[in-house]
Amino acid sequence: MGMTAGGEGRGMALHTKMLIGFFVGAVAGGIAHALGIAVGADGARDVAPWLAATLTWVTQPVGSIFLNLLFMLVLPLVFSALVLGVVEIGDPKALGRIGGKTLGFIFVVTGIAVAIGMVAVNVFQPGVGIDAAVAQSLIAQSQSQAEGIVARGEAASAMQVLLSIVPRNPLEAAVNGNLIGVMFFALLFGIAAATVHTDGVRTFVGTLQGVYDITLKLINKVIQLAPYAVAALLFNLIAVQGFTALLPLAKFVAVAVGALAFHMFVVFPTLLWFVGRMGPVTFFKRAQPAILTAFSTSSSSATLPTTLRVAEESLGTPRRVGRFVCTLGATANMNGTALFEGVVVLFLAQFFGVELSLGQQVLVLLMCILGGIGAAGVPGGSLPVIASILVMFGIPPEGIALILGVDRFIDMCRTTVNVTGDLVGTVIVSRGEPPDAVEGHGPDPAAAARA
Ligand code: ASP
Repeated sequence: MGMTAGGEGRGMALHTKMLIGFFVGAVAGGIAHALGIAVGADGARDVAPWLAATLTWVTQPVGSIFLNLLFMLVLPLVFSALVLGVVEIGDPKALGRIGGKTLGFIFVVTGIAVAIGMVAVNVFQPGVGIDAAVAQSLIAQSQSQAEGIVARGEAASAMQVLLSIVPRNPLEAAVNGNLIGVMFFALLFGIAAATVHTDGVRTFVGTLQGVYDITLKLINKVIQLAPYAVAALLFNLIAVQGFTALLPLAKFVAVAVGALAFHMFVVFPTLLWFVGRMGPVTFFKRAQPAILTAFSTSSSSATLPTTLRVAEESLGTPRRVGRFVCTLGATANMNGTALFEGVVVLFLAQFFGVELSLGQQVLVLLMCILGGIGAAGVPGGSLPVIASILVMFGIPPEGIALILGVDRFIDMCRTTVNVTGDLVGTVIVSRGEPPDAVEGHGPDPAAAARA
């Protein structure tokens, strides 16, 4: 089913509108940056009053309201989608099979992503020969921000991250944005609900299906704002930062974005074609709303409502598989983030002249795969994880200041790869799984509970 602006088959398709919003925001942002920002001899930036007013009163509020609306839907969605996904899978054998395939996909495909990034850094050596004065000034500009990130990275030791998967208080996990903790709770809840066949459980599952249906209805409304919000979000970024910030680190940006593009446009299509048996062009067309939302929000969590909507309404995969894989994937399956972590660690090792043996590089690869699982699905969520990996390998973590100026743009690209990876995973895990049972018939407990 094609998704339209109204979700009802009328008017211009939503993804076309989003694409228009995307270009309008980017072009208007570029023009506004050229006309409205003046950089003084001392490097200080002067923002023209009309641009400051546009940002403060129009584009920033539009972007923030859209993001808030999406984040607002994340908690009810994560809990209801995951519990229902598990209950609908039902039989423990099927759950083991789908869970196993999902984990296998996450580890193998994330491993491929990190390897691509690391090979690219080894071949193109973006960390060698950076002008020392330029590096100094970049580090000085972002020093205090980097210190905060390093402190967060040090606070989150690997063991603490592992422990936070099992929350003592699921509500506290929800309030603190610990989505992995909420997912663990929902997974256990779903597994237990699938094995208890009482009227109470059936009523609960029916109610949860109601929560899910209502949330999806709200998503369908919120997403109609996406074309305007995408335009506003891109305008904000480009009007303020422009593209000149990318220039001093052009080689690093090119290597990171090139490796991400290779994963997105070579690895994913190959997997879709040979393993998922879906034409890549069809896939990318259907996935477009999620791809554009990911690019403009830089957040897998904020994109989750759209990702689930694509999986549920457009991909043609079994509903229960999409719910399971996309929800877990929003924080645990981050191909782009893991790739970027590998690129930054090797880039800074090159920059600081820290030699990493082949054995150590293999260890970096493993840490980045885990880092992709541990990073939060929010803008810059991977930075504290990168800081803690740098410490492990004796690379000065403050060096992260060097790349902060270009991080937002790469974040947009890696989040796009993360979200696309969740949808590719849904297609691949769905292979060989029976289609959804017709409502009210067959072994679909959620449907049975609704009946
Ligand atoms: N922004 C990324 C995401 O939400 C996480 C990161 O790499 O910083 O998927």
